[in-house]
Amino acid sequence: MKRAIVLLLGTCGLAMSAVSAGAQAKPMKVMLLDGESGGTYHNWRLTTPVLKKELEETGLFEVTVVTAPHSGEDFSQFRPEFAKYRVIVSNLDTPDWPEALRTQFEEYVRGGGGLVIVHAADNAFPHWAAYNEMIGIGGWRNRDESAGPMWYFADDKLVEDKTTPGTAGHHGGRLPFQVETRAPQHPIMKGLPPVWMHAADELYGTLRGPGKNMTVLATAHSDPLNKGTGHDEPMLMTVAYGKGRVFHTTMGHDVAALSCVGFIATFQRGTEWAATGKVTQKAPGDFPTARSTSMRVDIEEMDPAFLNGASDPVRTAGSR
Ligand code: ZN
Repeated sequence: MKRAIVLLLGTCGLAMSAVSAGAQAKPMKVMLLDGESGGTYHNWRLTTPVLKKELEETGLFEVTVVTAPHSGEDFSQFRPEFAKYRVIVSNLDTPDWPEALRTQFEEYVRGGGGLVIVHAADNAFPHWAAYNEMIGIGGWRNRDESAGPMWYFADDKLVEDKTTPGTAGHHGGRLPFQVETRAPQHPIMKGLPPVWMHAADELYGTLRGPGKNMTVLATAHSDPLNKGTGHDEPMLMTVAYGKGRVFHTTMGHDVAALSCVGFIATFQRGTEWAATGKVTQKAPGDFPTARSTSMRVDIEEMDPAFLNGASDPVRTAGSR
């Protein structure tokens, strides 16, 4: 009898903490946008369910996946109701959209909508000026110095490099690398370690863009030994666009990279910040340290290559 009471209390305790850990109010509506990528190396059909799971497990968000037609296809039936959502998370890399749709998207963010940019979403829309302002910096799709200065850290200061010419977008082989906090008091970063080891991923560098109203929250050293730039490259950023808040993470090439506890926590916190301007989530206890990665196997298992034992993150060629 005594044991039964203890069990009962235990169950109650769990239920209570689940309620308090979840949203006190109704979950916030999130649009997770996908539908196209620059190549098969960015498999949005695999990564979108991962991003959805990572957001919904916080209890803060209710995620609706909205899949856009490919650029150049018929958009007449594609009418995403941006205004229904607190924040749009983009897992979409496409060259262009019809003008009317671009205008609706701009009005949504300028009017106070949140936006989260994940990895190759910063490859999208090279010629859309407002989008490039929203993301701060981007790469590939023929971006070069006409896209804006290169932005990186040197001697612990943000550099706006207006003189070096060349293409935008670069990475070495996929290896683990250290991420260094640059804005420890920002709500997204507060309580996270100053340096932590990200799981094997592409370390984006030579990104270019207007960098207007951009705050770099974290950088990573792009090591010349791994074909890197030698600079400390922006990894996490916020951008103010009108009344809208943008959170941009350059990390997250594939499911393995998305399974890093450091990616997950900064993505969850960045999405909450983009939606509300605040962060209520505590840092997870299994956050990576300066020397050790921390991976969620339940996320890694969402990639069939992992289950087949064929997951090999250390590849260099043909992806971005
Ligand atoms: Zn990539």
